[in-house]
Order: sequence, then structure tokens, then C-alpha cells
Amino acid sequence: MEKRTELYRGKAKTVFTTDNPERLILQFRNDTSAFDGERIEQLDRKGMVNNKFNNFIMQKLEAAGIPTQLDRVLSDTETLVKRLTMIPVECVMRNFAAGSLVRRLGVTEGQPLNPPTFEQFLKNDALHDPMVNESLAISFGWATAEQLARMKALTVQVNQVLSALFDQAGLMLVDFKLEFGVDAEGNIVLGDEFSPDGCRLWDKETKKKLDKDRFRQGLGGVVEAYEEVAARLGLVI
Ligand code: UDP
Repeated sequence: MEKRTELYRGKAKTVFTTDNPERLILQFRNDTSAFDGERIEQLDRKGMVNNKFNNFIMQKLEAAGIPTQLDRVLSDTETLVKRLTMIPVECVMRNFAAGSLVRRLGVTEGQPLNPPTFEQFLKNDALHDPMVNESLAISFGWATAEQLARMKALTVQVNQVLSALFDQAGLMLVDFKLEFGVDAEGNIVLGDEFSPDGCRLWDKETKKKLDKDRFRQGLGGVVEAYEEVAARLGLVI
């Protein structure tokens, strides 16, 4: 596999083309951003930890029948993935209230949400990822009704699989964000990454935060927390 040119540099990952037009390389960097990229810091080891974490979770999801873009890990910080045309609509599912939901609605952090809620946001840092809905996504051509229905069904399935996985590790999956793309055959496939950068995980007993809120809230021990989650899942990094 030959790495070619840089296609796109995101806030935490860089995407490279390869000699295979159907494959891309995701390189996980140590950059950690918050507040739509307003604050960026380098956190030692984070790229490696998130690359391995993402690989572990994506394999679990594949095993549960969820199509993901994962092909194989290439190095400590690089993974080979299927090329997708990404849909600019972020899917957020919440099992407990936190973050923007608490800020927006004034509800209590940690309040259980039954059934889990589903929200969609436009991926656009300059506009601070505004909340959108199915009607807007269809009218602006970001996705079709069928694609949006499939994205929601897959998000619900991911929640079922991962809530159980984290529960067994003594963790609450508070909420998470997924991004989807379309493959060469037109299938909706889970893309981007699943790591503690894009979800909230709390210790079930103490409610200690073990995710990117440690960075957003200046709590320290960010990568150590990610490694603790990995260790609890039985993942050796
Ligand atoms: N999230 C993300 N990227 C974003 C916005 C949110 O990965 O651009 C994740 C976030 O880590 C959390 C979930 O999506 O697990 C819900 O985030 P929320 O809407 O509460 O926004 P936040 O408080 O993180 O700004």
C-alpha cells in the first residue's frame, strides 16, 4: 500500500490517498481540539491511542453486522479505510443528558433519556455545527430520505451494541456522534472514527468523566482516561 498525497486535514486526523483509488489512509494525530477548533493542543500518545481504540470498536461493530469503512490498521497512528463520499450530517445519540443538550434545554446533567434521543447537526465548524433536521437535509441535498433513515437505524444499532459493551466495562455511554458516508455501491457506511474524542463515557459508580470533556473542562489526565477506558475493555495499547 503506497501512501500518496494529502487529501484533507481535519482537526485530529489527516486523510491521504493511496495507489488504490478505493482506499484512503486515516492518520490519527495528537492534536486535540475543542470549541470547533478554537482551542487546539498536542496530547502525547493520543493519536496512537485513538487509532487503536477506533480499530477495536469498528471491529466490534462489523461483527455485529454494522458496515464500517475499516479495512486494516497500518501502523500505530494509521489505518487503511474504504473511500466514502461523506454525508455532512453528524448523528448524535444520547442515553443521558450532557453537553449541548444541558446548555440548550437547561436539564440536569446525567438525567436518563428514555428512549435515547437522536439529533442531527450540519458538519460546519464556521457555523459551529448548527442543529438541522431531516427536512433541511433532504431539501438542501445533503442526503436522501432513505439515506437518513438508514443512518438513524444504524445509529440506534451502534448504541445498542456499544452501550452493552461499555456497560460490561463499568462505563456509561452517555452520548456519541457518528458520521456516515456512501461507498462505491451506494451503501451507507459508518465512517470517521469512534473514540473518546467523539463520545462521553462516565464511570458507572463514581460518574468520573473518561472522555474529551476532560480536555474541554480542563480536568487533565485526558489520554490517561482514554487508556483507562481501553484497559477496561481489555484492549492492550
Ligand atoms: N461531538 C463530536 N463532535 C462535534 C460535536 C459533538 O464528536 O463536533 C460529540 C461529543 O463529544 C458528544 C456528543 O457528540 O459525545 C454530543 O455533543 P454535544 O451536542 O453535547 O456538544 P458539545 O457539548 O460536545 O459541544
